[in-house]
Amino acid sequence: MQFMTPEQYQFIKKQAKKILNTYTTSKDQKVIQAIQALVQEEIDSKLTFSEIDQQLVLQPIFHIQSKDQLEKFLTDIKQYVEPFIQPTEAQLKKLFPKDKKLKLPKLEAFDWQETSYLSWFDPGTNRKYIVYREDGALKGVRGTFSNSAKVGICTVCNQHAKVGLLLVSKKGADLGTYTKRGNYICEDSESCNGALSDLEKFTNFVNNLM
Ligand SMILES: [Zn+2]
Repeated sequence: MQFMTPEQYQFIKKQAKKILNTYTTSKDQKVIQAIQALVQEEIDSKLTFSEIDQQLVLQPIFHIQSKDQLEKFLTDIKQYVEPFIQPTEAQLKKLFPKDKKLKLPKLEAFDWQETSYLSWFDPGTNRKYIVYREDGALKGVRGTFSNSAKVGICTVCNQHAKVGLLLVSKKGADLGTYTKRGNYICEDSESCNGALSDLEKFTNFVNNLM
């Protein structure tokens, strides 16, 4: 019974850290209870439970008082995350037919339960690839990516991190014309996925590129 998406798992992670942080910084029962109630509310607004068992799985979150407990909790609930279905190399190649010498990432290196979108960078061409699913269909977009060595806000996950400029060309209304869209996004897409707890931001981002 996998009832969480990777994005929801990242969201739960954030909530769990909030609880741990509260126990670490406060001894006041009232404060602790207030944060517990807030976290409960946040979870209820983000996840839909079809069975009581699913809610029970998450109950230990309210008593996380140490880093070890946090780690254990996150490991325990990971089995309930529906992973991003690993695409095949053939599927990926089909997404980018113009890139004859498409360099693919090592797919076995990804943690699919923590992946909301798949991304990799080809240093040979300076292209960054982004692959995701929308209504079950695999989609891809790519652009040139320049590492800015700057810290900024990522358009996808909204975290403060090392970002680079992704430039995506889009066919214009007139034949042979192109427009370019630029966005600052995380250089490290694994960390970006880790911070992505609101998939709507990602969806808005890719839809703006199309
Ligand atoms: Zn990001």
